[in-house]
Amino acid sequence: PFVQARAVAQSAPSSVKAGGDARETRFVNELLGQMTLEEKIEQMSQVALNTPDGAKAEAFAQAGVGSFLFITDPVRINKLQHIAVEKSRLHIPILFGFDVIHGFRTVYPVPLAMAASWDPKAVEKGQRMAAREASAAGVKWTFAPMVDIARDARWGRIMEGAGEDPYLGARIAEAQVHGFQGSSLSNADSIVACVKHLAGYGAAVGGRDYDSSDISENDLQNIYLPPFHAAEKAGAGTFMTAYMDLNGVPAAGNKWLVRDTLKGQWGFKGFVVSDWDAVHSLVVHGFAKDDADAAARAANTGIDMEMTSHDYTDHLAAEVKSGAVTVVTIDEAVRRILSVKYRLGLFEHPYSDPALANAQFVNAEQRAAARAAAIRSAVLLKNDGNVLPLQRPKSIAVIGPLAASKVDIGGSWSLASHPADNVTVLEGIRRRYAGTPDAVKFSKGVEIERGNWSIFDEQFPEDKPTLHTDAEKKAAFDEAIALVKASDVTVMVLGEAQNMNGERAARQSLDLPGQQEALLEAAQATGKPVVLVLLNGRPLAINWAAGHVPAILEAWYPGTEGGNAVADLLFGDAVPGGKLPVTFPRSAGQEPLFYARYLTQIPHEPDTRYWDGSSAPLYPFGYGLSYAKFTTTNLKLGAASVAAGGPLQVSVDVKNDGAVAADEVVQLYTHQRAGSASRPVRELKGFERVTLKAGETRTVTLTLDTKELGFWSAATRRFGIEPGTFDVWVGDSSASSENHGTFELTK
Ligand code: BGC
Repeated sequence: PFVQARAVAQSAPSSVKAGGDARETRFVNELLGQMTLEEKIEQMSQVALNTPDGAKAEAFAQAGVGSFLFITDPVRINKLQHIAVEKSRLHIPILFGFDVIHGFRTVYPVPLAMAASWDPKAVEKGQRMAAREASAAGVKWTFAPMVDIARDARWGRIMEGAGEDPYLGARIAEAQVHGFQGSSLSNADSIVACVKHLAGYGAAVGGRDYDSSDISENDLQNIYLPPFHAAEKAGAGTFMTAYMDLNGVPAAGNKWLVRDTLKGQWGFKGFVVSDWDAVHSLVVHGFAKDDADAAARAANTGIDMEMTSHDYTDHLAAEVKSGAVTVVTIDEAVRRILSVKYRLGLFEHPYSDPALANAQFVNAEQRAAARAAAIRSAVLLKNDGNVLPLQRPKSIAVIGPLAASKVDIGGSWSLASHPADNVTVLEGIRRRYAGTPDAVKFSKGVEIERGNWSIFDEQFPEDKPTLHTDAEKKAAFDEAIALVKASDVTVMVLGEAQNMNGERAARQSLDLPGQQEALLEAAQATGKPVVLVLLNGRPLAINWAAGHVPAILEAWYPGTEGGNAVADLLFGDAVPGGKLPVTFPRSAGQEPLFYARYLTQIPHEPDTRYWDGSSAPLYPFGYGLSYAKFTTTNLKLGAASVAAGGPLQVSVDVKNDGAVAADEVVQLYTHQRAGSASRPVRELKGFERVTLKAGETRTVTLTLDTKELGFWSAATRRFGIEPGTFDVWVGDSSASSENHGTFELTK
């Protein structure tokens, strides 16, 4: 049967249009026609084997398992693939999946950081480079992008997404899909994307990971679903459902979400995988009565592949025999899975070359791309008195628990990387003082309590604490402050340990953890210039620093080349140009906090809603400084009125008043003044990152696609573009109000 299948596949054109190709349909149907029910169900199952349990894995491969996850060693992947293709009855290749979230062997900045670049092309490039390494290893499926909108900084997985805004989120989601999948899924260096977690995971109550989400239909339709829909339209090959209950129905059992919306209304042609054990979890939710019921209900929901739990292989055949699940449902699932394998070219080229793979890993091209990405993601939060860029001080103290950590700089979800490859901030700075090594002194000063167990801790045992007794802790603190006093400039590298972000890593506080702020205060009290570099994966409530420390650079978790990129930025070889993709609060008590809020009363006093503090953010969405200074003036609209659905040209003059070439992100926000339902005070509807030479003025024209002004109305309960008067603002953040205009949207 394989030879026959192969003959069909070989006559297929190299770029197979998703779902629409007759040869693909014929190929898949012929294969399906030869499969027993049990073989079909094997294809619908994904097994996690990250331990080198050879015999077990080989048995799965021979039985015709659909997918493995967490196997990343190219030699092992090839070996198992040979077994599947040569020794399983139907010779169907295995789809190897892994969380290629921000790089594979080379680590790119975490997704939230990449979103801070406000540069979809850079985001696409980063994921393209990641796809090259992963596909070289034989990993052809990534569980990314995570497109969950997150408006609560306590949620640890906010780091894995593009932040709080659906418009920015949609653009970043598309870019990631294009990056992973390339110009055609059948390219040797393409991997298939998995858009996750459908849907509403980012709205977990209290920011607690895995807690339920209760989302109004208004927010679901206008905020949480749009990035998923955008990723689907961009051609994403697979989707993953979320863990939690969405409005009382577990996502993996939510027919409205999977069957009606994704596969029905949106016409998605790829396949859907559950999250880890999430089919079995239908029992835990108090939804399915037992595992057999869970298997039936998940299959009927449209979950085509089960991740890790084995309810499908244990129970689905019996559920089909009892009539609870139809063969049509099974066939539809298997058809979708085989189609994705076909589109990936796996039937024609199931193997990778482990020898060639090694040459792809962390090579010079990867390092250069990772460094460029890290530079583009950084956000300059403060720079009083132009402390930055540093003018090559004679002596420099590099202080902080994250300054020399090889592990933390990579961030969470960098499980296939080798921390030894990472360049720390200390190393990045030291490289610049190669001739005078004594000029750079380091002390960690304090340690971060790594706190709760995280599922990934065992992957990174390197970062064991070294300060145990009070005396050791005091000595380290004092040593750091002595270095600050003895140096011309201090770079403090503070933030969060990598395991404080990502899965199961919610936080109740958004402060700098542990004694870091005490260390910062003591350093600042010396009167010496202090620059704060932040490594973290969520908005932090850094009020004290914002009020006292002259310069703050938000570097996020910048990845393998992070230390070099931070040094480039600190010393002015590169200029920061990123902008916040998420609001920074003053305290955790303000969360969830986001710019696109609704107004009720006192619109002029949005700052007085709490008795015990401001309700204004510390730094607004879209905010970020530069070593240059930009002014934006002269807003012009192409027309005073525009027909719904048509484009409106919006232009401003942007001037670089600084002494260096630098980037500005021109942001366009709108507000609908009246309609069938209330509208947020502002919504992002366009942006462009531009580079201007020193002294240059450029007219930047953004095209407002008025289709983007459509919304799901809670009053009419449908989507529509409603005519009316709109405000428009173009500026350098969601808080800028200088360039304001209005236009009429007509029928
Ligand atoms: C996470 C997913 C991830 C999967 C496989 C789950 O726990 O929620 O995002 O893709 O594990 O690693």
